[in-house]
Amino acid sequence: MKTSKDKLSRSEAHLRSILETVPDAMIVSDEMGIVRSFSATAEHIFGYRPEEVIGTDVKFLMPQKAREQHDDFVRHRRGSEERRIVTPGRIAMAQRKDGSTFPMEVQVGEMEWEGERYFTAFIRDLTDRQNTEMRMQELQAELAYMSRLTAMGEMGSTLAHEINQPLTAIASYLNGCGLILDRMEGEHVAMLKLAVHEAAEEALRAGEVIRQLREFVARGETEHRIEDLQRLVEEASALGLVGAKEKGVQVEFDFPQESPQVIVNRVQIQQVLINLLRNAVEAMHDARNPFLAIQARVVQDGTLVQVSVRDTGPGIPPEVLSKLFTPFTTTKTSGMGVGLSICRTIVESHGGKIWADSDPAVGTTFHFTLRNLDVEEVASPES
Ligand code: ADP
Repeated sequence: MKTSKDKLSRSEAHLRSILETVPDAMIVSDEMGIVRSFSATAEHIFGYRPEEVIGTDVKFLMPQKAREQHDDFVRHRRGSEERRIVTPGRIAMAQRKDGSTFPMEVQVGEMEWEGERYFTAFIRDLTDRQNTEMRMQELQAELAYMSRLTAMGEMGSTLAHEINQPLTAIASYLNGCGLILDRMEGEHVAMLKLAVHEAAEEALRAGEVIRQLREFVARGETEHRIEDLQRLVEEASALGLVGAKEKGVQVEFDFPQESPQVIVNRVQIQQVLINLLRNAVEAMHDARNPFLAIQARVVQDGTLVQVSVRDTGPGIPPEVLSKLFTPFTTTKTSGMGVGLSICRTIVESHGGKIWADSDPAVGTTFHFTLRNLDVEEVASPES
């Protein structure tokens, strides 16, 4: 018995040295659920030293709720003649030494050593992955909300433009009628005058309502904060480039060594980026070497940051290029043609500019600028 134990510990030591380098945590327990081996990564993610855990029940690595379930499971396993219980990877909660819990992916394999059964659990901490997924979901929801709002504003502004002329005409016709009525007499004239005057006022008010909607979105109630440009761009790219890899698009990022800080409404600027990225990926649909470069650089003596999105698509025909940022310009059958005009509204409301260079032989580059926040300005905001 002693020799078999010696052999086991020798073999454990060997296994341990191998598993030191495996990124997953590894925990070996025996048939009773007693921990026999605890890898370096397990130490790191659970916060226990091996000597604190080895010899105790593995259930103490689980949150309270899961412990009873685990007891039942161990009882059932001991009674079972069934060999090779291998659970496929499943997601469960684990508990650290400090009592905090975290999501993990756990995979359990079985081995036999001199008549005894051992269970090896490979555990991967999912905290980062879950945080990333949650962040992406949050971003997506914020963006969906913002893009509806901005699209509404953009439609409003176009409508205001298109409808204002007829509304002005209506108002001036009505004013003309009022003048004629001034010179008329009769029992209904006063009532008619009032009605015509009210109608003219309403026509003006209709134009005002639409104008206000636009103001609200363009300049109004949006919150601006100091943001790290690189982080903002990377997040937007994670959303805007979904599916791009599968289409064979190669992506390159190029940022200054020190990422610029900008004061922006993050969601709106991310919306601009996503629009540009999606347009670029769509444009490279048939490109032989689809390549997308996202670059940020500090320009104009450090006062501005210029972000550029370059693609190797077919370029933009001159007749489209000249009215690219005008609403309802589209060459796509299912396109609305408001994306770029929304981009312009947003960038201009941040005090920047947006433009495109296009060469059919090379592709298209969209650029936009934002005010660069001086580091000194951050340090002493009152100056
Ligand atoms: P939509 O995508 O709904 O058409 P946009 O305002 O985003 O609306 O784009 C307007 C038009 O500009 C597109 O229909 C397309 O013809 C052109 N365009 C935009 N980006 C690119 C690009 N990267 N390469 C080629 N054409 C582009």
